[in-house]
Amino acid sequence: MDDSITLGVSACLMGEPVRYDGRDKGDPRVMHRLSGVFRLIPFCPEAQAGLGIPRPPMRLVGDPRSPRLVTVATGQDLTESLITHCTSECIRCTSMQLRGFIFKSRSPSCAVESAPIHDREGAVTAMGSGLWTRAFQQAFPMTVVVEEADLADEQGQRRFVERVLVADRWQKWVDGTVTAHHLTEFHARHKFQIMAHDREAMKSMGRLAAASGAAETLSYGRELFAAMARPDTLERHVDCMMHLFGFLKKRVSSEQKQEFLHLLEACRLGRRSRWEPWSWLRSRAQQHRIRYLLNQWYLFPDPRETQCHPVGPNNGTDSDGRHPKSFTW
Ligand code: SF4
Repeated sequence: MDDSITLGVSACLMGEPVRYDGRDKGDPRVMHRLSGVFRLIPFCPEAQAGLGIPRPPMRLVGDPRSPRLVTVATGQDLTESLITHCTSECIRCTSMQLRGFIFKSRSPSCAVESAPIHDREGAVTAMGSGLWTRAFQQAFPMTVVVEEADLADEQGQRRFVERVLVADRWQKWVDGTVTAHHLTEFHARHKFQIMAHDREAMKSMGRLAAASGAAETLSYGRELFAAMARPDTLERHVDCMMHLFGFLKKRVSSEQKQEFLHLLEACRLGRRSRWEPWSWLRSRAQQHRIRYLLNQWYLFPDPRETQCHPVGPNNGTDSDGRHPKSFTW
């Protein structure tokens, strides 16, 4: 089965010379790092809408809820040309199964909430999304959307990759192409991954999964996307690892318990990396073959999640390089 995941990306970030001035905004994090993890499809709505390269600089003007796209120098209104293109582009995207989109910040077409919106006199009155981003998000609300500025550091890249992988597993579950048949099984495997982002959401999602009607499944999907968009924190990771340790308590010696608790406390105080207690839990879960733990995406992530950051000696895989899960999803 082809396991590759496809994302859209603003073409200028891929190094394509499509900007209004004929130049690019090639971003090495996108061009070199993320292109090694995902299949990236470039989009430039302004060039593809026939506005030309080069073209006059444009900006958003008017009501922040539905701004117009106008040229800076002459005030020519190009909104309809761009929106017509965006509508047909959204139809084209339907067959691409995009799980995410990396947009260019501050662009009147591509920004996510960072494009300046002006009044008729040219003063900035608000910040908002570009016209292409608005159309795309409306058409594909269950797609992970970021700007390149959100990927500035390894933490931002790791979070984005994690969200995309969860979105991909969710979509596969919705499409029925995974081995987990019941929503409770999906939730059980993601429980600690969600908890690292939002503990309360994890609990309420557990209730939705148990109810498992059509309306609850829809709400579950929405809550999953919202929870994963909240940043994970060290405090929540410590909480997760303490809970996971509970599954091992009766299997390990008192010396091993002390070893883990010291490691976790040092991690909580910022003296040790959080990957150390995490690695401890992984190796004990494997040693004792505790299926519930082996099935946790939190402890045994998709190897693509660790491609953007080294997480210790085995980089997320077993010593033989294989992912330790026994199931296909
Ligand atoms: S920001 Fe968007 S519209 Fe502007 S050049 Fe890049 S891809 Fe094209």
